[in-house]
Amino acid sequence: MAQGPALICKLLASSVSVAHKAGKIIRDVMLKGDLGIIDKGENDLQTEADRSAQRCIVASFKNLYPNIKVVAEEVDKHSLNLDVPEDWLITELDSNILNLECPQNLSEIKEDQITIWVDPLDGTSEFAKGLVDHVTILIGVCVDDDAVAGVIYQPFWQNKGRALWGLVGYGIGGFEVKEPPTDRKVYVTTRSHYDKAIETFIDGLKPCDIIRVGGAGNKVLYILEGKAHAYVYPRAGCKRWDTAGPEAVLKAAGGELTDAHGNKYSYSKENEKDPLNKYGVFATSPKFNHTEFMKLISEIQSKLE
Ligand code: AMP
Ligand code: MG
Ligand code: MG
Repeated sequence: MAQGPALICKLLASSVSVAHKAGKIIRDVMLKGDLGIIDKGENDLQTEADRSAQRCIVASFKNLYPNIKVVAEEVDKHSLNLDVPEDWLITELDSNILNLECPQNLSEIKEDQITIWVDPLDGTSEFAKGLVDHVTILIGVCVDDDAVAGVIYQPFWQNKGRALWGLVGYGIGGFEVKEPPTDRKVYVTTRSHYDKAIETFIDGLKPCDIIRVGGAGNKVLYILEGKAHAYVYPRAGCKRWDTAGPEAVLKAAGGELTDAHGNKYSYSKENEKDPLNKYGVFATSPKFNHTEFMKLISEIQSKLE
């Protein structure tokens, strides 16, 4: 009997297709101008765009894959309402991805091994300020502990949006990886959660250039676009939905993302109740040695202790 595309390819194709739909929803909220901002806690916002994009993404996955675990950032009553307009549900999957050659080790993955982590709008603080270039949609398809396929979607790229995707063991699509500068080191860190402690930590990395931008997805894009060697966030704050999609795309491109000890975060469903990336986020370009960089991070940490 002829076998259809592997489940991982179907999930990645679905992720790209639904990101395009959710991206349009986010642009429409911005165009209407009524963001419906809610403060979820200290320096942690939610808007109508976060809520609607999440409903679109989760309802689409639930419609196509009712038995697959999806963990999404927003947990309020409105965001959990999956009774969405019919045209918010995807009906066609990205055909190029559907038909790509699935890496052998991922070709027979079963539904119960999968967790999909969704950040429907990463960079909400920046979105609320109109800094739309910092905003991304993040979808990470994870098998057991590992982020293996992902999408970083930029809803405001050239006013029409674009999807950057990766499948570990296959490669990337939607963009080309660029190399970071060779004459100086450039690190990218938080814009909205910056404070004295982060400044002191980053001082330990000098001499270097520091770029501060919003969003975990956007910072990984800086690495992929060759604008930075590494993403440095030396404290708890990001969650698994911030890193699953970006980690998968970065890994597929040859880069790495770990905690401050060089350990990988686990994306298994058991982390739903405690999704915090406790030991920070450190990600490196394919052209920058992660192990060597983490030695430097560990030296800075021990000097600060
Ligand atoms: P940033 O690098 O500050 O733009 O953060 C990247 C992602 O992690 C965003 O989704 C933030 O909301 C989240 N994040 C980072 N630090 C914190 C924090 N201290 N509290 C809440 N969310 C955070
Ligand atoms: Mg986020
Ligand atoms: Mg978010």
